[in-house]
Amino acid sequence: MPTPQPPEPPFQGIRRAAKEVLFAVGYYRQRLKQFDFPGVAILCYHGVRESREETAPFNELHVTRETFEGHCRLLSESCNPISLDDLRAARAGTRALPERPALITFDDGYRGVLDYALPALERYHVPAVVLACTGPVFDRRHFWFDALCRRDGEDAVLEARGAPFAEWSDLVHAIDAPAAVTDRHRPLTPEELRQLAASPLIEIGGHTMSHPTLALAPLDEQRRQIAACRTLLQEAINAPIQSFAYPYGSRADYTTDTVAIVREAGFALAFTTVPSFAALDGDPHQIPRFVMLDSVNDVELAHRLLHSWHGAGETV
Ligand SMILES: [Zn+2]
Repeated sequence: MPTPQPPEPPFQGIRRAAKEVLFAVGYYRQRLKQFDFPGVAILCYHGVRESREETAPFNELHVTRETFEGHCRLLSESCNPISLDDLRAARAGTRALPERPALITFDDGYRGVLDYALPALERYHVPAVVLACTGPVFDRRHFWFDALCRRDGEDAVLEARGAPFAEWSDLVHAIDAPAAVTDRHRPLTPEELRQLAASPLIEIGGHTMSHPTLALAPLDEQRRQIAACRTLLQEAINAPIQSFAYPYGSRADYTTDTVAIVREAGFALAFTTVPSFAALDGDPHQIPRFVMLDSVNDVELAHRLLHSWHGAGETV
């Protein structure tokens, strides 16, 4: 879950219609093929829903299967999907990246990634990284923000995640909710995480144990959240866990101490949600990503890759 997105700018409807026309006539695809990115376009997804009829807390952060499929099609036809291994090798200078490299990541660890995203990734041969929270996955509980959102709404979650750590921690215990295996909107089970990890397209990374705002947590708690997450994941999938994503991921959500803890815990790379293309010589523990919303369909993604994401702001 990242920080909330800004409201839509004015005349959005007219702009969207113009973009649809440009997409339909092949403008974006043609322009993209003559273009290069100033770094890697790393996309940050959360869950994937079956359809618009299936709603969930923080609905916009959970793209539909149709939206996700459109993104995979666009990226495979007009860009070049890469794996985290490609990114590591390119950063080390041992492998060149193709033009317009794009990397897909999923935060939190929702079951929809296995149910709906993996089939699309396989169809279009697109690699991805799944950065999972170990508490909800291994204890089979709902994410704290989903449990609280269902009880008290989204504003209560936004308030709670900025609360002093002890207060947040008490709240998380108070709203603890088991996740029924039949629930569509729940974390992966450990078996499902292992199934994802077994795919040659998927690499697993860490996202803390219980998704606190790390900047507000005492240092020993940050260490526990970060190191224990890595240990548990390594034991579960029997493979090294090399990447991490900061919960929420804006610069206010972690500190320089957090970055040092992530590095000391053995994570070679860490992702933020600071919206920017990722330069190969950038800080390996503060790699920027663009957060994806369901309102960003394939047309809008093409527009952002070509235009909006190259300016100072994120959206047009
Ligand atoms: Zn998250």
